[in-house]
Amino acid sequence: MSDPFELTGPAPGAAASQDARAAADVAHLEGLNDTQRAAVEATEGPVLVLAGAGTGKTRVLVSRFAHILVRGLAGPGEVLAVTFTNRAAREMRDRVAALLARSVEGWWVGTFHALGARILRAHAEAVGLTPNFTILDEDDQLRLVKQFIEAHGIDEKRLPARAVLGIIQRWKDRGLTPDRVSDAEGADAGGGRVLALYSDYQDRLKTVNAADFGDLLLHTLTLFQDHPEVLAGYQRRFRYILVDEYQDTNVAQYLWLRFLAQAHRNLCCVGDDDQSIYSWRGAEVGNILRFEGDFPGARVVRLERNYRSTSHILGAASALIANNEGRLGKTLWTDLGTGEKVRVLGVWDGEEEARVTGEEIETLHAKGHALNEMAVLVRAGFQTREFEERLITLAVPYRVIGGPRFYERQEIRDAVAYLRVIAQPGDDLAFERIVNVPKRGLGQATLQTLHRLARADGVSLTGAARRLAGTDELRPRARKALAGLLADFERWRGLLDVMAHTELMGLVLDESGTTAMWRDNKAPDAPGRLENLRELVVALEDFEDLTGFLEHVSLVMENEASAADDKVTLMTLHGAKGLEFDTIFLPGWEEGLFPHQRALDDQGVHGLEEERRLAHVGLTRARKRAIVSFAANRRVYGRWQSAIPSRFIDELPADHIDRTAAPGLYGSAAGDGSAAPRAGGFAEDRAFFTGTRRRRQRRRARLIEDVSRQTGPGAGPAFEPGQRVFHQKFGYGKVVAADGNKLEIAFEKAGTKMVMGSFVEAV
Ligand code: ATP
Ligand code: MG
Repeated sequence: MSDPFELTGPAPGAAASQDARAAADVAHLEGLNDTQRAAVEATEGPVLVLAGAGTGKTRVLVSRFAHILVRGLAGPGEVLAVTFTNRAAREMRDRVAALLARSVEGWWVGTFHALGARILRAHAEAVGLTPNFTILDEDDQLRLVKQFIEAHGIDEKRLPARAVLGIIQRWKDRGLTPDRVSDAEGADAGGGRVLALYSDYQDRLKTVNAADFGDLLLHTLTLFQDHPEVLAGYQRRFRYILVDEYQDTNVAQYLWLRFLAQAHRNLCCVGDDDQSIYSWRGAEVGNILRFEGDFPGARVVRLERNYRSTSHILGAASALIANNEGRLGKTLWTDLGTGEKVRVLGVWDGEEEARVTGEEIETLHAKGHALNEMAVLVRAGFQTREFEERLITLAVPYRVIGGPRFYERQEIRDAVAYLRVIAQPGDDLAFERIVNVPKRGLGQATLQTLHRLARADGVSLTGAARRLAGTDELRPRARKALAGLLADFERWRGLLDVMAHTELMGLVLDESGTTAMWRDNKAPDAPGRLENLRELVVALEDFEDLTGFLEHVSLVMENEASAADDKVTLMTLHGAKGLEFDTIFLPGWEEGLFPHQRALDDQGVHGLEEERRLAHVGLTRARKRAIVSFAANRRVYGRWQSAIPSRFIDELPADHIDRTAAPGLYGSAAGDGSAAPRAGGFAEDRAFFTGTRRRRQRRRARLIEDVSRQTGPGAGPAFEPGQRVFHQKFGYGKVVAADGNKLEIAFEKAGTKMVMGSFVEAV
C-alpha cells in the first residue's frame, strides 16, 4: 500500500498531524446522505452516479477523492480526476485540499486536455514530437490548413479552411486519426479532399513539433495503443479515476478513460443525461448507456434528493424536461421549502428586458443580496450586450464568464475599427487592425512599407496609403487592393452625411466583405459572431451619430478595470454547467432565440431536445429565485421583429410559475420610466455621449484638415530630374520627373517606376 501522503504534506508520525488526520477521517463524510455516502464508500469497482441536477454528484466526487486519500487507498498522485473546466478542476483541488489541510502539488486533477497534455509531454517522442512541443491556437491551425488548401490547388471559396478544420476536429473528437477514417466517410467529406488535407496537416504538425487541442487526446490514444508498456504504467498508477459531467464526454475522451481504467477498474463517473448539452462538440450521451456494457458489474447509483433549489424551481425544471422523450427519467425532491415561484416576465423589447433586470439586481443588492450570487444566463453570446450596457449605466460591477465582454469580441473590435477609420482617418491602430481583415492581400510586407513611409513623412497610415497608391512601391495586387480600400473609406465617409449611421454600419459590413467572411465560415462559432455584428447595428441605434457611439464604446472599454470582487455574472447557459447561484435571470425565452433556430434547423427533434436540456440546466442553476423573461419585440439588424414566447414557457407548469411580476417591474413595463431607480437614465447618458453639435462640427473640421494634410505634398527632401538615387527595393536609378514627393525614376535594373521620395536617398 502506498503512503497516502507520498507527494507532499506533513511528515507521517508527527503528533499534530495525527490529530489532523483523525479529524479529517470523518470530515469528508459529514452531512452526506446514505446514498451519497454509499457512492463515496464504494471505492472498488466501476461506479456510475446517474442523477439529476443539484443532487450532490460533484460533492460525492470530491468526498470520494478525500475518502480515498484519508483511507490511504492511494496517494494523491494515484488518483486521476477529470472535470469539465479548469475552474471546476481548481475548485475540486481546493475543496479536497481544504478537507485534508494540505497542498495539492502534483495532483492529477484537470480537464481532459490538461491531463492529456501532461501525459503527452512525458512521452512526446513516442508519437514523433519532442517534450517541448507547441500547442497551437486556432489562428495557427487555420493558417496551416489554408496553406494546404492552396498547395492542393483547392478553391478556398468552395472549401473554406474553417470548414475543413471543423471536420478534422470532429474526427479527432471521435478518436479518428487519418488512417482510421473510413473510406466512405472520407469520400463524403469534400470528395476525399478533406481527408487528404487532414493527413497533410497532421504530418506538418509533427514536422513543426506542434499539437492542436484535439491532438492532446488523440496522440495519447495512439500512445496507449502503440506502447502497451506506457499504458500499463499509467494503468498501474491511476488506482482511482473520477469523472465529473460524464454526460458530455466525447468518444475520444471515453476511449481515453476506458484505456486508463482497464487495470484497476476503479472508475467513478457522475453525470446527468438531462444535462447533456454538448452534442454539437461531439459529446455522446450514449457513453452513459455504454458504461454498464463496458464495465460489467458496474454499480449504478441514483441520487434523488436535490440540495440546491427550492421546490417551485425544481418542479418547474422537472416538468420542463419531462417533455423530452429520449431520456432515462428520474424523480427529484427537495426539502428546502417551496420558496418563490419561477417568475415569468413579458417585456416590450430587449431594452426593457435589460432595464427591469438591472432594476431587480439593484433592488436585491440593496436588500443585501451579494452580486456574486446573481447570474444572467443567455442562450447566445450577443445577448450580453444589452445587459452589459445597462449594468454599466447603473454602475453595477459585472463579469462575463467564458468569453470576452461584448465590445472586446474580435468581430466587434474589427467592425468598430472600420467605424473609427471612417470617423477619423488618422486612427492608425484601427486602420492597422482592419487593413487586411477580411483578407485582401495586404499582408505584413505592405504594412511594413506603410509604416516606413508614415514614419518618414510623419503622416498617418491612411495618409501613407494614399501616397503609395499611385506608385510602384507595392506589388500591383497590393496596390490595387489598397486603392480599393481607400476608395471604399472615402465613399463611406461621404455617405455619413446622407445615410443613417446604423444603415452605414450594415453597408460597411457588407461592402468590406465582413458579412460574407463570417457567413462563409463554417466554424461552430461563426454564426454567433454574425449575430454579434447584427447586435452591434442595434447598439448603434441608441446613438444619434457615429461620434456619439464611438465615444460610448471607448467609455465602455474604460469601465473594464472595475476591481470590485462582488460582481454579477453574465454567461451563456452552456458555460453555467455545474454552477449554482441564489438568483438566476433567464432572458430571451423566445422562439428562434431559445430554442435557437439553428438548433432546430440543423438537428430537428434532437436539436429541440438539446435546447430543452439547456433550459433545464439554466433553471436548475438557481437556489432561490429564477426569473424567465421574453420580449414581444426584438430589433434584429436594425429591423423590429415581433417575437413569440418560447414554447418552453408554455411547458412550465402553472403551479410553479408566477406570471405577475413584482410591482416595481410592471410599473416600469408601462414605459413611463417612473420606476427607474435613478434620475436621467438613458436619456441623460445619450445627451452626455452625443455631445453638442458644436463639438461635432469642430471634430469634422479637424478631420477635413487632417485629410488634406495627409494628401498634400510631403515634407521630404526635393529631388531634381537627373539626380542619381538609391532605392531599397529597386536599386540605383535616375530621377526622370518629380511630382511633389512622388518620383518617376529610371532604375538601372528595374526599369522605370513611380516611387516615394521618402524611400530614396540621393547618392
Ligand atoms: P449539477 O448536476 O448541477 O452539477 P450536482 O449533482 O453536481 O449538480 P452539487 O453541485 O454537488 O450537485 O451539489 C449541489 C448543492 O447541494 C451544493 O451546494 C452542495 O454543496 C449541496 N449538497 C450536496 N449534497 C449535500 C448534502 N448531503 N447536504 C447538504 N448539502 C448538499
Ligand atoms: Mg456537478
